[in-house]
Amino acid sequence: MAAEMAEHRADLTKLDAAIGDGDHGTNMDRGMRKALERLDGLEGEDIGAALKAVGLALVSSVGGAAGPLYGTLFMQMGSATDGRDAVDLAGWADALEAGVTGLQARGRAEPGDKTMVDALLPALETLRTAVQEGVEPADALRRSAAAAEEGMKATVPMQARKGRASYLGPRSVGHQDPGATSSHLLLHSAAEALGDGQA
Ligand code: ADP
Ligand code: MG
Repeated sequence: MAAEMAEHRADLTKLDAAIGDGDHGTNMDRGMRKALERLDGLEGEDIGAALKAVGLALVSSVGGAAGPLYGTLFMQMGSATDGRDAVDLAGWADALEAGVTGLQARGRAEPGDKTMVDALLPALETLRTAVQEGVEPADALRRSAAAAEEGMKATVPMQARKGRASYLGPRSVGHQDPGATSSHLLLHSAAEALGDGQA
């Protein structure tokens, strides 16, 4: 995830420059670098501890809206996987659900508000369906990331109702939301990394 944020830093910043203040790429890159630093000291700890450390790093190092929101997502995912050394696909879906629920409780964004929620919720729904259908994990994670990509693209015609972009009113229409884009990138890289049978 950190590599993905570093690679796409300029793209995310460009999207945010169009309807925000142009810091989303640098925010996410900085936050994920801090997360990596924290993970360095966590060798041998469980999955919950690792996810909580990532969340704390994001909350404490990233200003703006996205840091606390993603921080909440990762911390709630960490609480949902507390003490676990492994998670199966259903466990990962439960964790993601806890994370998105926490993020929505904090940010109060609903689907259609042109935020990261518009990428995260379809990804979660697709993951849930895949679990119910018994789809094997690598494929399920790929489908979930593809749903996030669709959700990301669907933010283009939306008018922003949350965050800085909402100040633009109708002028926010026609631009892809930066947070929905980073959400897709994060889930895409998670699918690549976790899909190799590590679950
Ligand atoms: P800031 O807007 O403070 O500069 P960032 O640029 O890092 O923070 O993040 C902007 C992104 O945060 C937006 O593209 C949007 O997806 C997301 N966002 C903003 N407000 C909310 C909210 N209340 N709920 C969910 N996501 C939000
Ligand atoms: Mg910004």
